[in-house]
Amino acid sequence: MDILKAEHIGFCFGVQRAINMVYKELTRGTKRIYTIGPIIHNPQMVKILKEKGVIPVEDVSEIEEGTVIFRTHGIKKEEEAYIKQRGLRIIDTTCPFVKRVRKYAMYLKKNTYTVVIVGDSNHPEVKSVLSYLGNDGIVLQKPAPVNAKKIGIVSQTTQDKDTFVRIIEGLLVGAEEMRIYNTICENTEIRQREAKSLARQVDIMLIIGGTNSANTKKLYNIVKHVQPLAYHIETEDEIKPQWFSDVHKVGITGGASTPDFIIDVIEKRIKNF
Ligand code: SF4
Repeated sequence: MDILKAEHIGFCFGVQRAINMVYKELTRGTKRIYTIGPIIHNPQMVKILKEKGVIPVEDVSEIEEGTVIFRTHGIKKEEEAYIKQRGLRIIDTTCPFVKRVRKYAMYLKKNTYTVVIVGDSNHPEVKSVLSYLGNDGIVLQKPAPVNAKKIGIVSQTTQDKDTFVRIIEGLLVGAEEMRIYNTICENTEIRQREAKSLARQVDIMLIIGGTNSANTKKLYNIVKHVQPLAYHIETEDEIKPQWFSDVHKVGITGGASTPDFIIDVIEKRIKNF
């Protein structure tokens, strides 16, 4: 059985940068380190960091002292204000590409555009961007009308391009003026393209990553259209030997927050079948 691995797999630039910053802080001997929500959407990596003393909390008000890590997806404006006001030490690991979404969205608002964020309203990145607009923005996940003449558009970094384009096309109908910033992260685009191409060459695809990871879920949805025999898994324990009967080629891809060690273990497990 041949295993074909996507070229871009494992941590993306933003996640690797964040993890490096956290480890650097740990080497300083800092005792209390907190993140608001998980630092990245990978439960196994979050567990490892937790064992080292990096504690995710649900609400910023739970933090009274120590160091606060701003996670890769960014945090809400009011959370940032609270942390600053309390004088807590801040390590800002917000990915620069996420900050770019925020910057363009704020620019659009300042210039009186009705701001549309193409993305998932429940995702922390979108919630963060929206908070910097004073919640004065519209989040769209599928084509829908927006009652405005002057529309400014940004996208969640992990948005798939086809949906982004379809939503823009839908908005063109009623708008007099539109300004569009394609803020889909290049890494996301590359992974999605690679996954599609890989899925065409193999008998089965495994998409590895947190079940809470938006970019992994998007990869899975894209792959599923091309290769119906596709599975989204988090760890090697979810693999079933029966998936591989009559299979000659296995394709593997992974989300931007999937650690290499998980991919390696899965690869070894498949080789044993
Ligand atoms: S996927 Fe892109 S935007 Fe998200 S953390 Fe990685 S590099 Fe940053």
